[in-house]
Amino acid sequence: SKSVYTFGGLRQAQAERGESDPRAKDKTITGGKGANLAEMAEIGLPVPPGFTITTEECVSYLQHGADFSDELRAEVASALAHIETAVGKKFGDASDPLLVSVRSGARVSMPGMMDTVLNLGLNDKTVEGLAATSGDMRFAWDSYRRFIQMYSDVVLGLDHGLFEEALEIAKEDRGYFADTEMNAADWQELVAEFKVIAEGELGHPFPQDVNEQLWGAIRAVFDSWDADRAKVYRRLNNIPGDWGTAVNVQAMVFGNMGETSATGVAFTRDPATGESHYYGEWLVNAQGEDVVAGIRTPQYLTKRGREAARAELPSMEEAMPEAYAELARVFDLLEKHYKDMQDIEFTVQQGKLWMLQTRSGKRTAKAALKMAVDMVGEGLIDEVTAIKRVDPMALDQLLHPTLDPDAPRDVLTSALPASPGAANGKIALDSDLAERWANEGDKVILVRVETSPEDIHGMHAAKGILTARGGMTSHAAVVARGMGRPCVSGASAVSIDMGARTLRIGSREMKEGDVITLDGASGEVMAGEVPMIEPELAGDFGVLMEWADKYRRMRVRTNAETPADCRMARQFGAEGIGLCRTEHMFFDADRILAVREMILADDEAGRRKALAKLLPEQRSDFVEIFQAMAGLPCTIRLLDPPLHEFLPHRDEEFAELADAVGVGVDHLKRRAGELHEFNPMLGHRGCRLGITFPEIYEMQARAIFEAACEVTSQGGDPVVPEVMIPLVATRKELEILRALVDRVAAEVFAEKGATLDYMVGTMIELPRAALMAGEIAHEAKFFSFGTNDLTQTALGVSRDDAGRFLAPYVDKGIYERDPFVSLDVDGVGQLVSLAAERGRETLPDLKLGICGEHGGDPASIQFCEEVGLDYVSASPYRVPIARLAAAQAAL
Ligand code: ADP
Ligand code: MG
Ligand code: MG
Repeated sequence: SKSVYTFGGLRQAQAERGESDPRAKDKTITGGKGANLAEMAEIGLPVPPGFTITTEECVSYLQHGADFSDELRAEVASALAHIETAVGKKFGDASDPLLVSVRSGARVSMPGMMDTVLNLGLNDKTVEGLAATSGDMRFAWDSYRRFIQMYSDVVLGLDHGLFEEALEIAKEDRGYFADTEMNAADWQELVAEFKVIAEGELGHPFPQDVNEQLWGAIRAVFDSWDADRAKVYRRLNNIPGDWGTAVNVQAMVFGNMGETSATGVAFTRDPATGESHYYGEWLVNAQGEDVVAGIRTPQYLTKRGREAARAELPSMEEAMPEAYAELARVFDLLEKHYKDMQDIEFTVQQGKLWMLQTRSGKRTAKAALKMAVDMVGEGLIDEVTAIKRVDPMALDQLLHPTLDPDAPRDVLTSALPASPGAANGKIALDSDLAERWANEGDKVILVRVETSPEDIHGMHAAKGILTARGGMTSHAAVVARGMGRPCVSGASAVSIDMGARTLRIGSREMKEGDVITLDGASGEVMAGEVPMIEPELAGDFGVLMEWADKYRRMRVRTNAETPADCRMARQFGAEGIGLCRTEHMFFDADRILAVREMILADDEAGRRKALAKLLPEQRSDFVEIFQAMAGLPCTIRLLDPPLHEFLPHRDEEFAELADAVGVGVDHLKRRAGELHEFNPMLGHRGCRLGITFPEIYEMQARAIFEAACEVTSQGGDPVVPEVMIPLVATRKELEILRALVDRVAAEVFAEKGATLDYMVGTMIELPRAALMAGEIAHEAKFFSFGTNDLTQTALGVSRDDAGRFLAPYVDKGIYERDPFVSLDVDGVGQLVSLAAERGRETLPDLKLGICGEHGGDPASIQFCEEVGLDYVSASPYRVPIARLAAAQAAL
């Protein structure tokens, strides 16, 4: 098949006769830019004629490294002739030369690729012809100097500073400030200087042969695909290395032909707000990238934009009403054609408009949402398209209060954006103080070197969390995301002096009680209070969510253990609790003492005594949760973490406990020492606690059933508790513990003279459990994939220690993404699908869900859909993300 496709001019006529080749408009063949140029030409828009060399040629060039084939040279020659005919000028003709631009263009727009070369085809002879035919000496020599400058930089690899410096000196010598003051003779002199500079660097003259210029530029575009900066960009954005780039060669049009000429960039809607008005910038008498290069201040495209910014220079709408009207017509045509907001590049040559590029424009989350909803209203797209068009992760930006973008910021340091949202408050250096201040009604930011499970109450009380150490998957980051607290982690510029209760952030000395602001989306830490804007959950957001709910198959639940989180999650659309971690309830100040008493008790009788104190507390927790969830399903996980996580550490904590229990401090310390484990993650935790200390699970089961009976008897929607046993590896474990739960349920029902439906199920979070799922399903009514632990145990990687090596692993491409953030579908995913399959073989209506962090990750949600899970469960703030991602996965 062909390697070169022409567009514009004759091709347009051919297309109108129905002779178009679909490859010409296929982005994989002609790249994004080329495909869209061909398409614009075909719908009759004014596009300078040109041709595109395919990405396939690039791939074969890079593979064989050989010279260009004769076939390619012949195709290019005939495509060039096509342009010549269309324009009525000849490439290299000394009297009336055709000039072209050479532009790269991969499938997706990709920074790092070769910069465009403009005005190619100029040399010492053709520049005279250009001057003669245009009747504009200044324009011709300005174009020539631009060409030498660009070609030397982009194709020949010379230092562009050399040329810029020469231009600066030329202006200085003549007493000029702006480039516009340079006249024809000045540019001509500068061209002579540029040629001397180029020859000095190259060791041979600047190429005068226009064909050599053209092939040099083509080669440079191909080579740029494998340039380091392109490779880095591809790796960061998951773009395959074997796509290659196309090359576009296009007849030049000139925006630098005086006051009736111009160049500009525009969006068909506002890319920041999504509002439906044109938005853009332009410059009179300028070429190419001048608008974005910042050499001159660009002018506003519309009168509206100019007035809003109170700018003085006229808008295009005012200065060139005719060309602007034409442009507006093109905007509308393009939006109707592509059914999306377009990002456009154009040039006006002596009053005539030319289109040089169009593509779907980048946009903020807010704009994406508004445009998707608006376009459905306008009948431009349907609901399914709207759902697919919004990136679920982008919703994160919209769900949390954000900093007022117009407010000044006094930035102290910048670190990892571990959990999104913004918060401000008084610095508290420990969790007890954070909790006390919060109870007194203050806003608090908890600042720690790093956090541990003992900081849960402080994190809960705080508006935001800042840690000096730890990565994106550190305790602070994971817990903060779960709680929806903004968090900045790994801020190495923070050093804390606990003795003096002071700290230093960056170069600033601060003390406990000083106010700071965190931006968990950017990782910035600021002094003082930066004003905030509240999220908007109704409006466009609500509309899109409704559509998503209509099209998704999977249910979306939440991971929550406080009534406040439950209510929040329901506001976000949660349809139940997928994971209620009961241990989080054990840390509260009013019960940690009883928990410690239980753990350190010498025997079962001692444990039962302490558990009796905990029972009413747990029961009231569940009552509140069941009430908040109003009849929606609630999966409650029995105690999971290693017991020693609850142990006292400081002397005064031991003393307090000794007082309360009436035992000596030394005795308690010895018991605590006995509980030490070398590898707690694989130690005495999960259902192993229930097997060895059944009274703990008995108490929890009793609290659950008593609460369920209480809430149901109050006339609320009937509660259907789902009791979940963690860390099961064998059928026998579950058999024993299920019997325990059933026995307690029967006892409670007998006492209450009531009965209600409930389920017992298990987490699948150990590889053995996944493999034995067929057996285990005999004892379970549901499986919930605990993919955090399943990932840890399948990979043999401790999440809490992974910070040191996981980032380099991802950088080197060993793992494509952090497997704790996005499920390792290839590996861990096999365990999930195998367990789902084997489980359902045993019990066809086994309920399947996922409750790891992955339940809020769109790529993992896609996988859950493929495996056929019934629901995903995510932290409250991730619920809307999961709703949208589940809809996208189902479509
Ligand atoms: P990028 O991919 O970096 O946007 P482009 O290939 O779009 O690079 O070129 C950058 C700019 O160069 C365009 O926006 C346009 O202003 C100018 N340009 C490219 N080709 C031509 C041409 N044939 N005539 C006039 N200007 C051109
Ligand atoms: Mg462009
Ligand atoms: Mg677990």
